[in-house]
Amino acid sequence: MNQPILVIGGGLAGSEAAWQIAQHGFKVKLYEMRPVNPTGAHIGSDLAELVCSNSLGSNLPDRASGVLKNELRLMNSMLLEAAEATALPAGAALAVDRDAFARMVTERIESHPNIEIIREEMTEIPSMPVILASGPLTSDSLSKSIAQLSGDDHLFFFDAISPIVRVESINMDIAFRASRYGKHSNSTTADTTTTPQEDEGDYINCAFTKEQYYEFVNALKTAERIELRSFEEAILSGVKAGQFFEGCLPVEIIAERGEDSLAYGPMRPVGLKDPQTGRRPYAVVQLRQDNLAGSLYNIVGFQTNLKFPEQRRILRIIPGLENAEFERYGQMHRNTFVASPKLLRPTLQHKTRDDLFFAGQITGVEGYMGNIATGMLAGINMARLMQNKSPLTLPNETMLGALCHYVTHADLKDFQPMKANFGILPPLELENKKIGKRERGQAYAERAATALETYLRENHD
Ligand SMILES: Cc1cc2nc3c(=O)[nH]c(=O)nc-3n(C[C@H](O)[C@H](O)[C@H](O)COP(=O)(O)OP(=O)(O)OC[C@H]3O[C@@H](n4cnc5c(N)ncnc54)[C@H](O)[C@@H]3O)c2cc1C
Repeated sequence: MNQPILVIGGGLAGSEAAWQIAQHGFKVKLYEMRPVNPTGAHIGSDLAELVCSNSLGSNLPDRASGVLKNELRLMNSMLLEAAEATALPAGAALAVDRDAFARMVTERIESHPNIEIIREEMTEIPSMPVILASGPLTSDSLSKSIAQLSGDDHLFFFDAISPIVRVESINMDIAFRASRYGKHSNSTTADTTTTPQEDEGDYINCAFTKEQYYEFVNALKTAERIELRSFEEAILSGVKAGQFFEGCLPVEIIAERGEDSLAYGPMRPVGLKDPQTGRRPYAVVQLRQDNLAGSLYNIVGFQTNLKFPEQRRILRIIPGLENAEFERYGQMHRNTFVASPKLLRPTLQHKTRDDLFFAGQITGVEGYMGNIATGMLAGINMARLMQNKSPLTLPNETMLGALCHYVTHADLKDFQPMKANFGILPPLELENKKIGKRERGQAYAERAATALETYLRENHD
């Protein structure tokens, strides 16, 4: 009880983990190396900074991300509470004002009597109770220490972040506001009484004709990219082999896969009508509000590794962005994660060291919500260990239980980060009934909620 528990990394997972431990009455020392040692992707010094998109995924209860959020609510996640308190309009998604979110988390952690924040890099895995939540951009020294522990199974990957535009520089005579199928933040179902163009919509949309789209794709493919450093070159060979973080793939790489790949990917026009033509455009670039003031918008799904002047030139080809001013350009980054199937248990404990937990992206669980969720579980389980209680292994029917099961049981040979999705849950017993996607989502959601509630009741000791 006297010895403080260490948490390494004050990101999404580490902040949630520290909070959970502290709420259970234990002292925590939270090590965060920023701002002394920057990561290359974080820009501030607050805890829980969102490095790329400001969206924490769907809020709809019958979507995989919505199911995970419900589980976080049931288990009292502090970060989800902060996200909901700093939410912005974003259709059916939970998007936040990134600065307000990080500030709120930081203030709550700073003012918790059981938590001490230490702004230092931890260079080795300490031999005392510790949660390692140093994220995809874990510092080099700590990475080496993890590599020593995990042998050769310490892997590299890459992610890329998308550009942010100042709203007043968007030409609203061309761009238009709408959410796909008229879904906006005040409605959880499609509004059938208004067409998308009558609906004020949460997104700013830039519509392309077929000709404009192909011109844009060609420009993207031939644009100059930032030179790759050695680890990124290694990663790129992984890209060629088909191993990449699909959700954050740079647009120029998607464009290379085929002329219409973008039109079926981040530029898909489904559910949108251009008010100028009354028709569905050939392709669309969407921008989503990025701060509470509504002065910044990020280009959705437009992660890129082009040189900054090239980004400025090429993104200004987008109809409506001809005079765009950029608050931040896109970038490509390292993504570090361990061989969880070899190293970890579904409780997030190391297989051979009970008091060493891993949480966040470093476990191979992907996505902001999944990272918060693993932080929450690692924190609760560390507290249980300190209380001589057995750590929780959540049922596989729950989204968090399924994620922890997946990363600790996947085939090591093809192990890649995994985010919340229905495919990792055990199949539903439907007695040969054919049901639609929505009903299926609802069935998964209800089963997950019942399984978690029952499990928590049974383990409330
Ligand atoms: C460039 C990039 C873009 C991404 N974009 C998205 C996205 O749009 N949507 C999404 O869902 N997910 C995205 N991810 C994936 C992932 O969800 C985020 O990285 C998320 O922040 C990971 O949470 P975490 O808590 O594991 O790590 P982080 O939030 O990164 O927190 C780790 C913390 O540990 C600190 N740290 C590192 N090493 C040390 C050390 N040795 N000592 C002390 N402190 C240390 C870091 O400074 C950091 O604050 C992205 C990842 C990257 C790298």
